[in-house]
Amino acid sequence: MLEARSFPMTDKIQKSDAEWQAQLSPDQYRVARKAGTEPAFTGKYHKTKDPGTYTCVCCGEPLFSSETKFDSSTGWPSFYKPVAEGAVEEHTDRAYGMSRTEVRCARCDAHLGHVFPDGPRPTGMRYCMNSAALDLKPEEKK
Ligand SMILES: [Zn+2]
Repeated sequence: MLEARSFPMTDKIQKSDAEWQAQLSPDQYRVARKAGTEPAFTGKYHKTKDPGTYTCVCCGEPLFSSETKFDSSTGWPSFYKPVAEGAVEEHTDRAYGMSRTEVRCARCDAHLGHVFPDGPRPTGMRYCMNSAALDLKPEEKK
């Protein structure tokens, strides 16, 4: 498993919109940099069970492990916890008249999805992520 660290504010990755746009596909850019949501059941990871580490599509920071992924039947890849404390940041999101908790990459502020308190044990949390914001690094075979 890749090692995750927490980043002080000064270590954050900051790029202009144009730089992100050049680096990402249009779908990745819309979700990760513009807080978009991919339609349910369309992302490439919602059914994936392959072992590995899900990293940030923008900066490569390890965010979630396949070991904490579960089938939420929502059409989005869902995890019950991040790979390490400090890998993601949570922000209150009041868009669309709802109060939700947005989840962002702690290193580059990429929008990843939202977290809801209706997940399975042991945490009871459901990190509902967008496939477009993630990049699965398969576990290396030994
Ligand atoms: Zn990132």
